[in-house]
Amino acid sequence: MFWIYLAAIILLPLYAQFKVKRTYKKYSKVRSTSGMTGAEVARLILDQNGLQDVKVVESQGYLSDHYNPLTKIVALSTHNYREASVAGTAIAAHEVGHAIQDKEAYAFLRFRHRLAPVANITSNASWVFIMIGLIFSSMNSMLGIGIALLAVGVLFQVVTLPVEFNASSRAMNEIVSLGIIRNEEEGHAKKVLSAAAMTYVAATAVAVLELVRLILIFTNRD
Ligand SMILES: [Zn+2]
Repeated sequence: MFWIYLAAIILLPLYAQFKVKRTYKKYSKVRSTSGMTGAEVARLILDQNGLQDVKVVESQGYLSDHYNPLTKIVALSTHNYREASVAGTAIAAHEVGHAIQDKEAYAFLRFRHRLAPVANITSNASWVFIMIGLIFSSMNSMLGIGIALLAVGVLFQVVTLPVEFNASSRAMNEIVSLGIIRNEEEGHAKKVLSAAAMTYVAATAVAVLELVRLILIFTNRD
């Protein structure tokens, strides 16, 4: 049982990472028929949604693409920003999907932002309590506190999932309805976004498994 657990928490994220890298590598080399760079795709979708105030900038780092709701900036990694690829189109549209969520005050996004600072603190603090609780079996209550604190961080990761899936479905709607991608490109763009979503699913699954394992230790004591 322990070995299955160990294999799951190690292999699941590794496989997801491998899959996203491979899918991205493949479709970042496929030129999109629109000939639009990721930056142009992002700009067009933003403007179509009345988000002229949101800036699109180039960011350093491999797959460092993100949307910052505080600065209202869509940041795209160099290749996605400058090149016209199917992968870049999908990712640019996905990040704009987050900007649209922000504009519409999408419930899960708002909840996630409120939870973020709290989850950050509790996740860091939880391990101190968990370590003490695990080392000293007489201090099981410390483990209980640690688990409760850790659960906030896990909740944060769980809430990330609907936010990511929703941004991707918004992205697909936009690039299809605006005619940015056509025909078989639609399936390819979906593959890129699904692979990216799998990394979040894997990370969340690992976090949930870890939480369950600690809860089992906690309840099986005394
Ligand atoms: Zn995202």
